[in-house]
Amino acid sequence: MKIYFKDSIITQLDVEKSIDEIFNNFNLQPLGDVFIKPNFSGRFPIIKSENTSIEILDAVVKKLESIQGVKRVLIGHYSLLSVDKSSFDFDTMINLGGYKDLLKYSKVSFANLDLEAGIEIDIMGFKCYYPKILDNVDFFINMPKIKTHMETGVSLSIKNLMGLVDDRSRKLFHKTNLNEMLGYLGIYFKPNINIMDGLIAMEGNGPHEGENKIINSIISGIDMVELDSFISSLMGINFTNVLHIKKAMELGVGNYASNEILSQYKDKIWSDYKKPDLFMRFGKKIFFWPTTSCSLCHEVMRLLKKKLKSNLLLGLKFYYYAYFSKKRINIILGRCEFMEYFVNDKNICIGICTRNYAEKNNLNCLIGCPPQIENVINFIFKELKV
Ligand code: SF4
Repeated sequence: MKIYFKDSIITQLDVEKSIDEIFNNFNLQPLGDVFIKPNFSGRFPIIKSENTSIEILDAVVKKLESIQGVKRVLIGHYSLLSVDKSSFDFDTMINLGGYKDLLKYSKVSFANLDLEAGIEIDIMGFKCYYPKILDNVDFFINMPKIKTHMETGVSLSIKNLMGLVDDRSRKLFHKTNLNEMLGYLGIYFKPNINIMDGLIAMEGNGPHEGENKIINSIISGIDMVELDSFISSLMGINFTNVLHIKKAMELGVGNYASNEILSQYKDKIWSDYKKPDLFMRFGKKIFFWPTTSCSLCHEVMRLLKKKLKSNLLLGLKFYYYAYFSKKRINIILGRCEFMEYFVNDKNICIGICTRNYAEKNNLNCLIGCPPQIENVINFIFKELKV
């Protein structure tokens, strides 16, 4: 078996049966310490399509609990890049997501990877760090959510590995070459199995502004390139254009799904699956371009929206530009050098990642990583007046 695909999963019993089938079909024989990497968003509110569901985690943990040779089950994650980690830390995520319930299984514990010692690895000449704890586990289960992603096209098994490198390394990915560096993760982290949660997947402008998409599916495989290319094709996305999957394939992490597999499941394609846009629109005239930005700059944009709602004067000023500006206004984030320069528009560059693009096109750029929200507001209005 190369790819496991099951849809029409409705009840918890269906989930458990599916997990049993995966263990049997791939002849999985975990022993000792098992590490599970779920997909935790680390922000409020907990959205179903953003986080690995408790149902599927429960079924996997229950299965592991029943295997005599398994000693411990560690569920580990770094916290999300966040402007204010203290307001939504790892424990809050576990509590609010309902994951604490998994502690009813005697072998389970949670590992806040922020607190673990790091091991240095070299990715494209940059020093990155992953938790030492990973070197001491005997079996690794990768449990991503099926998502679209504005910055990387899709977020599947390879992208989920990004939650295994520390904050500083993740920022570095965004500041340098996100897609290429993601491809390298497949060299360092080799899950024994990837179990993809497609009970409620995410479509549209994921991973931050996407929508829930009920597809009642669990998909599994060992080869991450094969699995991610297969699922991309189910989403109606040409996987050869998904740069991090392509990079992983070129690095020998795995092989694209074969024509045989693709044609076997061609009737299962989710034909109405919403693809991610390259931008988000505000009113008629303001466009946010996230390009390759990280969740920190996204969070700053969310804070901006909040401020505009809570401050009437500010909100009205912004709305005026959003509807009556003569020119289109582009608010640009992330490493955007590949982006077209819209010569007739007003272009506003936010964050240090945009510096090269700004310099090349003779624009001002608000330095900061991420910039403070007050500075962002002042900078945007100053630029709008010019
Ligand atoms: S400038 Fe923004 S997008 Fe770039 S790494 Fe810093 S916070 Fe992330």
